[in-house]
Order: sequence, then C-alpha cells, then structure tokens
Amino acid sequence: MIKNLRYFTLLIFVGLTLFACNDNETDPFNVINDNNEPAIPAETDNVNMLLGNPSGATKSTTTADNFFMEKTQYVLSYNESKGTANWISWHLNDEWIGSTSRQDDFRQDSNLPSGFYRVGDNDYSNTGFNRGHACPSADRTATVADNSSTFLMTNIIPQAPNHNQGIWADMENYCRKLVESEGKELYIVMGVEGQGGIGDNGAADAIAGGKIIVPANIWKIVVVLDKGSNDLSRIDASTRIIAVNIPNQQTLNSSWGDYRVSVDSLETLLGYDFLSEVSESIQSSIESGVDNGATN
Ligand code: MN
Ligand code: MN
Repeated sequence: MIKNLRYFTLLIFVGLTLFACNDNETDPFNVINDNNEPAIPAETDNVNMLLGNPSGATKSTTTADNFFMEKTQYVLSYNESKGTANWISWHLNDEWIGSTSRQDDFRQDSNLPSGFYRVGDNDYSNTGFNRGHACPSADRTATVADNSSTFLMTNIIPQAPNHNQGIWADMENYCRKLVESEGKELYIVMGVEGQGGIGDNGAADAIAGGKIIVPANIWKIVVVLDKGSNDLSRIDASTRIIAVNIPNQQTLNSSWGDYRVSVDSLETLLGYDFLSEVSESIQSSIESGVDNGATN
C-alpha cells in the first residue's frame, strides 16, 4: 500500500512537471533551455528580436524544426530537418557598422544541440549554390566577433549565386544605405520557404546528400524607423514596411522591388505571426500594404 502511494505521488509529480514544461513551450517568449530555466526573459532585452518570435521557436530539443538560438548579433529559429534556419532576425543601425574586414571564417555552429547534424562549410562545395548569408557580413562590422558570427553555418542558406550576388545583395545594400545615409534604423527578419531552387548546376531540391533543403523562395521583411529610442512604441500605421519574396533562382527580374509583397501574404504562406509585439490594430494596417517606396 505504501509502495503504491509512493508510486501514485511520483505519477502526480511527473504529470505536473510535464504540464509545467508544456505550458512554457506554448508561450513564444517563455523560452526554456535544457535546465528548464528561462533562456530569455519574457520581456527579452535582445534587441534582435524586439518585434517578436514569428514561429514561437523554443529552446526545447523536442522542437528540432523550430529551435530557438540567440546570439548577440542575431536570433534565429533553426530547422534540423532542413539544415538551415527557418528565419533569422536582427537589428541594424549605424552602431553595428564599423570597419572590420570580412572574416570569411565559415564554420559549424557548435551551439547546436549535440543530437543535431552540424552543417559544415564543405556541405556546400560544388553544389551550384552559394553559402548565402542571412544576416549579412556587412551588417556586422563593428567588431571581429560580430563579423565572425555571421559566418556560422546556422546563418547560411543555399542561395542561387545570381540571387545572392545580384538582386539580394542589391536589397541588402539599399538597407545599409538607409542606415548609413538616410538616418534610419531597421528591424529585419528573413527566411526560407518551400523546397527546390535553381543554382549554377540546374534545379535541386536538396544538397549535402539531403541534409540541406534548398528553399524555393527567400523572403525578407524590413521595418524602417528614423534612428531613435523606444523603437517598439514608435511603430505606427505610417511606418514603412518593406517585404519581399524572391524565387531562389538564377534568372530573375532586375529589381528586388518587383518582388514586393504584403506581410499578410507572407504570414499566410508561412503560418507565422510577424511583428507580434506591435499592437493588433497597428499590425493590421501595416501588414496589409505593399511598399512602393524607393529601391536604391
Ligand atoms: Mn549574400
Ligand atoms: Mn503579424
């Protein structure tokens, strides 16, 4: 009888513990680490995810395809089945930009859980796809550590060379121009969608023996603010939002502006909630429009 009572108590304890863990994981900001402690506070102070956690990524390895990783320089949701991030989010103002040279130290991310396949530099060799940066090298040049962080393979996606070096680079350059010449600061989130791109060697669904999925499309959302403080509270119905969704292919239109879409359309496509830290009423006005501002 006493034995049974102990067993019963243990069952209750396990049940409550599981319930508590599950409760944590359903709150996108109450991210837990392996010690079951909050990895980031409910009101995170990591500026790179000020606007939210679009997919509700967590630090639980049970969500290996929506696994949250936080770095000083950017935050991301990793997808172990894809061998790339789902999305990567970062802040860009003139304080992130300095004179550090490109470190070019592509390498495995040793912060991935031990059970995850760690994509290496060689996994992209002779595939017909570039090691495309999510958070660009040139957006992180204040220190060597900042720049080096962008060469972790968790910040890299298989990108058609012309996409990477052409249309996508043009958009990245335009974003830095806003910051360096037009007094802006930006909140940027980008990611992958679908499967199957067209690289230098033709069409491919995956590389590295299937360990890395080639995305069909690469999207980006940019929130443009005048440089200032209390950024979240300054986002209103007139804030410029630039969103694009560009096929991962060698042959594309000349201007990234031709691929502008609404945030709402990306939310529908991906099942994410972008700008979730912004009030619902402001979200509904800024997420429905398609940007038609300058592109260079
Ligand atoms: Mn690039
Ligand atoms: Mn939203």
